[in-house]
Amino acid sequence: MPVSPLTLDRLCIHQVTLMQCDFKGSIDCLARHGVMQTAVWKDKLDEVGTEQGARILHDAGVASVSLCAGGFLTATTKAGQQKILDDNRRWLDQAAAIGAHSMVTITGGLAVGETDIDSARKRVLDRLGELVPLARDTGVKIALEPLHPMACGNRSVISTLGEANNMLDALDMPDILGIALDSYALWWDPELQDEIARAAGRIINLHVSDWLKDTGDTRLDRGMMGDGHIDNRAIRSWVEATGFTGPSEVEIFSEDGWWQRDPNELVATIIERAIRHL
Ligand code: ZN
Repeated sequence: MPVSPLTLDRLCIHQVTLMQCDFKGSIDCLARHGVMQTAVWKDKLDEVGTEQGARILHDAGVASVSLCAGGFLTATTKAGQQKILDDNRRWLDQAAAIGAHSMVTITGGLAVGETDIDSARKRVLDRLGELVPLARDTGVKIALEPLHPMACGNRSVISTLGEANNMLDALDMPDILGIALDSYALWWDPELQDEIARAAGRIINLHVSDWLKDTGDTRLDRGMMGDGHIDNRAIRSWVEATGFTGPSEVEIFSEDGWWQRDPNELVATIIERAIRHL
């Protein structure tokens, strides 16, 4: 089903896209261009503190749709597992304090030297189940984000939307557990359209950017929409066919590219590309 071009009120720009700015600088820049939604980056929030961060967002009139990113659930020791639950509780509290609806949650990679990926995936399932009551306490949803298979070793032991759907089927807690779908992570998957249909009612966040043909770094060399191979508008149409009405969230990690540019030029480019490509 064709979708109409994205309008500014449905455009969200992740704070990490403006890595060249400090917390306040990034929020003020978005507001100056009429982009009134962001996803707050945990490290930037820690630089100013949660209370001050919430105040900056409020004063600028910019809403945070989510906090990025929590999770990292694959610890093997009891002490490690307890620490990660404690950390996630703190991050969920931070998310609630800035008014975010969700905490984007990535599973984490394998332990040092570990070769048993099945066991790592089972640990994630257990830890996710334990996170649920903590999330319910705060009212913040857990948005599980599968990452590209190149990140399987160090950042996410789930790589497809199908695996995320299977985990959510197994846990069956739809009131609090959902999915953050990132086009950069999932665009290559031949099952993507079918799995998006299967994820109906689960998709909390939609992240977008582009995959550059000769990417220099699969994590830190994301492209601007329109510069690569991802049909973001088609993916949005599939997601919206499930009933999703949320914003498209531009999340561009670009160490040697966009992070080196003037932030006003960057946001103006995103707005122009959003109209043409989202
Ligand atoms: Zn993402």
